[in-house]
Amino acid sequence: MAPKRFFVEEIADEVVLSAQESRHAKNVLRLSEGDEVILFDGSGKEYSAVVTRADRQGITAHVVRENASDREPKTDVFLLVGALKGDKTELVVQKATELGVTRIGVFSSRFCSAYMNENKLERLRRVAREAAKQCLRASVPQVEYFDTLEEALAAGKTYDAKLFACEFLPADGRGIADTGGSVVAVVGSEGGFSEEEYELAETLGYAGVSLGRRILRAETAAIALLAVIMYEAGELR
Ligand code: SAH
Repeated sequence: MAPKRFFVEEIADEVVLSAQESRHAKNVLRLSEGDEVILFDGSGKEYSAVVTRADRQGITAHVVRENASDREPKTDVFLLVGALKGDKTELVVQKATELGVTRIGVFSSRFCSAYMNENKLERLRRVAREAAKQCLRASVPQVEYFDTLEEALAAGKTYDAKLFACEFLPADGRGIADTGGSVVAVVGSEGGFSEEEYELAETLGYAGVSLGRRILRAETAAIALLAVIMYEAGELR
């Protein structure tokens, strides 16, 4: 059986797993002394380690070597998505992580009716860590919050390609081609975008893109757009 993977805040020669990870490791996975595990700290590296202690205090593991991860995408993709209602933003963070994004920004905008707070942001970061662990990624996407669309768009300034999925643009059959460089992709919340917001994005160098003749739900749009970008970048084959 492949060694189990654990997220740790900081890597060291000797690592103590968090209370939550330790409980899971002992009670569910039945790990004991001598078992091999994989540790990752979200930075893109992962480590083989051996359990040296498994008792009531938790699980301690000793790192034996660093492994290169070959699961990271070669293309740097930044998803900007409007804050969504209920647990929809969590769904988007989970799927975006699986699809290989390196950064996720959640923003508030004119027609956005969901709100964010520190707790919700922390939960999104946990979702990203869990998703990275499950899909065997060694790096965890950074998750940020922007109070306004303007700030969010500004954060995407340095990306080579800037895409703005806009529901009121005509489907012109142009599609989304790979540019060979980094990409920032913007998707609105349930309420969509206003004309002014689209104009602002255009002024900042974003290209409006259509996702076809049907209006997709925000979470569908985000996942579909990322899948197309990753496919064009050669990541899904
Ligand atoms: N409330 C809006 C729809 C918003 S859909 C309305 O009734 O028209 C949520 C977001 O998904 C949009 O802001 C856009 O970013 C994306 N989206 C959905 N369908 C799309 C399409 N056909 N083309 C481009 N973007 C789309």
